[in-house]
Amino acid sequence: MPIHEKNFWLDTLTTPPVQSAGDLLENIDVAIVGGGYCGLSAALALAKRGVSVAVLESETFGWGASCRNGGMVLTGMKLPVPTLIKRYGREAVRKMYAASLETIDCVEQIVRDENIDCNYSRCGHLEVACKQSHFDSYAESAALIQREFHHQQRIVSKSELRAEIGSDIYFGGMVDETSAGLNPARYVTGLAHAARRAGACLHDHTRVEKVQSVSQNGARKFLLRTSQGSVTAREVILASGAYTTNATPALRKKIIPIGSYIIATEVLPPDLARELSPRNRMIYDSKHFLYYYRLTPDNRMLFGGRAAFFPETENTVRQSAEILRRGMITVYPQLRETKVKYVWGGTLDFTLDVMPHAGQIDGMYFAAGFAGHGVAAATWFGAKLAGMVCGETDTTPFSAIPFPNAPFGLRSGNTWALPLAGLWYRILDFFT
Ligand SMILES: Cc1cc2nc3c(=O)[nH]c(=O)nc-3n(C[C@H](O)[C@H](O)[C@H](O)COP(=O)(O)OP(=O)(O)OC[C@H]3O[C@@H](n4cnc5c(N)ncnc54)[C@H](O)[C@@H]3O)c2cc1C
Repeated sequence: MPIHEKNFWLDTLTTPPVQSAGDLLENIDVAIVGGGYCGLSAALALAKRGVSVAVLESETFGWGASCRNGGMVLTGMKLPVPTLIKRYGREAVRKMYAASLETIDCVEQIVRDENIDCNYSRCGHLEVACKQSHFDSYAESAALIQREFHHQQRIVSKSELRAEIGSDIYFGGMVDETSAGLNPARYVTGLAHAARRAGACLHDHTRVEKVQSVSQNGARKFLLRTSQGSVTAREVILASGAYTTNATPALRKKIIPIGSYIIATEVLPPDLARELSPRNRMIYDSKHFLYYYRLTPDNRMLFGGRAAFFPETENTVRQSAEILRRGMITVYPQLRETKVKYVWGGTLDFTLDVMPHAGQIDGMYFAAGFAGHGVAAATWFGAKLAGMVCGETDTTPFSAIPFPNAPFGLRSGNTWALPLAGLWYRILDFFT
């Protein structure tokens, strides 16, 4: 059976893509660069407030990370809470953690209000410990999160782990019932339809090539030159994620684009699927160079990881299929004979401090740095940016923290040093 070098989620779409809005308007209140979760969620919120808004997407809506991801809607942030508290202090992290919980409610509300058929479910997530020392840190972390944020996580000892996962390689786990799962491609397609229904103009195959600040009748505006003509906007939202280009150089030099790859197996027999993931959780392990995995709604094993650190190319996707299959069999020897049917890759937007950021850059609103938490975070930040554009005070705790440039060699457009970063994380995984 051949492996399709194709994103499995695209084969599950039941609604047609949103039709493009036609010719660009000459003037618009808000232009949004990028049509993933962040841009579309901002467009939905703005259109609902009666603001005229155009989403400019160089490919198709959701083409970026938003239709390629694992569909895990996760609590918390990429960095562990003790590290965050050491860096930003208790009060700031309390707000950040509360925001991370709010991001999930935000996705849930949009799915419900807009009636998006995307298999959304509050199934919880399971983090599994690859070393005894990782498991030992779970109790302390869960106690800290309970004490500081009143949020509960449950420790699962090695002897109880079979109730959560059909694998014996881990030293224990930690369950968070608040997290959710969804079908990412159906979600982003539903979001595009919702934004369109609300009145947003959605333009696919419209690459923004340059953004200039201009003065029109004495007012500061932005002129966006695109592959389909020009548009003048009062405000601009940059929602271009890991795919940010030279059209917005100040933002681009802050983005570290890191490749992530996923395989999906053939459909598993129901008993085997239940054995592998008895509670149908979103699962990831405790390494830096981590694996993340879950069952799909039709009972395939979807298994992802950083098989290569470089953003996706035909070569890295092809090589990843075998690397990830070997990883999957290490976790689940039961899948030794199971066929891998799909492999694909995408690019995540990391930042040097591994934090999400939002605010203004060159007078334009932006949000970026969602790393592996973008399903919920990008949606929520999009809605927050819409509020800021409409004059609401910026209350996101992530706007107040410094946003460092990425070093040469790691930044978007200049990534020769990424394999060294990958090596560094492998060394860390060996020793810690
Ligand atoms: C393989 C993989 C697995 C992941 N798994 C998870 C997961 O399980 N859970 C989770 O929470 N997160 C996960 N993520 C991360 C998550 O998918 C992203 O953080 C999120 O989708 C980012 O959304 P976004 O709208 O910011 O960016 P994107 O969805 O990447 O959208 C940005 C869009 O901007 C467009 N664009 C860029 N520049 C221009 C321009 N100049 N003109 C016009 N358009 C432009 C691009 O074409 C792109 O479509 C994963 C990511 C990948 C790649």
